[in-house]
Amino acid sequence: MTSSPSPVWHPFTQHALAPEPAMVVRGDGAWLETATGARILDAISSWWVITHGHCHPRIVAAIAGQAGQLDQVIFAGHTHPAAEALARRLVAMTPPGLDHVFFSDSGSTAVEVALKMAAGYWRNTGEPRTRILALEHGYHGDTIGTMSVGARGVYNAAYEPFLFEVTRLPFPEAGREQATLDALEAACREAPAALLVEPLILGAGGMLIYAPDVLAEMAAICARHRVLLIADEVMTGFGRTGTLFACEQAAITPDIACYAKGLTGGALPLAVTLCRGEIFAAHYSTDRARTFFHSSSFTANPIACAAALANLEIWAGEPVAGRIAALGTLQEARLAPFRDDRRFSNVRRLGTIAALDLVADDPGYLAGVGPRLAAFFRAEGLLVRPLGNTLYVMPPYCTTGEDLDRVYGAIATAADRFG
Ligand code: PLP
Repeated sequence: MTSSPSPVWHPFTQHALAPEPAMVVRGDGAWLETATGARILDAISSWWVITHGHCHPRIVAAIAGQAGQLDQVIFAGHTHPAAEALARRLVAMTPPGLDHVFFSDSGSTAVEVALKMAAGYWRNTGEPRTRILALEHGYHGDTIGTMSVGARGVYNAAYEPFLFEVTRLPFPEAGREQATLDALEAACREAPAALLVEPLILGAGGMLIYAPDVLAEMAAICARHRVLLIADEVMTGFGRTGTLFACEQAAITPDIACYAKGLTGGALPLAVTLCRGEIFAAHYSTDRARTFFHSSSFTANPIACAAALANLEIWAGEPVAGRIAALGTLQEARLAPFRDDRRFSNVRRLGTIAALDLVADDPGYLAGVGPRLAAFFRAEGLLVRPLGNTLYVMPPYCTTGEDLDRVYGAIATAADRFG
């Protein structure tokens, strides 16, 4: 039997060069299984979303239960128990002071909502401000708004005319943090609306780590100048950096915080943007023009909210913090030999996330080494998707030491072959 080519257009994929996509039919814990029965170790949590492992029984049961009860309801003028319970629990567990919850459905929309909240806050308080400050190498999504505030390059060159201007601050590299703080201080004098940051680690920009005290200092500068701080915890949230949220390590409460990926344990698309009371209050008025004008059809979808509640129950009822600490220790032990390996540079770890740069002749996103590495790992039965020459391991929290041995064994082989 012959079959026609698939009509599916895949994300971030050059179809003229990419191999056939793997047909995945099952997920269980840290593992995926293909239609031909091959097993793939999911070392990047399926784009950083899966936290407790694929198909965690509590999440599966919650989804099934909610789907049979209430599948969807318009969220304007209506609410439902799962959204109400989830919002209350999120307010209780996120940094103190974040007390309103706006639902959306992806990391990008969570950040779009944050940007609109910031602009709305300034407009409604009679001091219109729209400029956003952002870190060099930042990534916040692929919608036009989030591309605008993210790093510019090959990913968004075609859309350049649509992107709005932002002020970019140098990444706070170890030893050069003061340059970032000085640039922030200077940029704050121009009365921008907000500073948007990925707290402690820039993900798609290359798994670049910076220190909690720099984040704390950035928050202090913003507070001094009345510039809103937006924390994009889309990747860092729900344990990845070793604490429930990355902002905890700097002991800060941002004015606005965005969470997505791990919110449902990775099972369903759901996102939230939390904000301080002042931001909600600036939109609270008998003047309809001050309404927060944002929605999407699936805002606070009940099934996704039920999955998120089940995720929070797993956090409350299972030793998740212990698993995260143990995974960090396992990652550190396996990274150790690479710290003296001259074929790698910048060997680093933050909580459950480990990263190292393969010293290659052709680094960079468009270079061939990234796809060659990805193809190599795939042949090894591993889901590892390098960012150019940056290899990183961000597995679900149920990943074992034996699983990691496979990953790091393959990384060593990759260095022999491509380093
Ligand atoms: N913000 C950060 C920090 C991210 O890492 C991502 C995705 O990787 C996004 C936003 C966008 O999230 P999504 O892909 O769900 O739109």
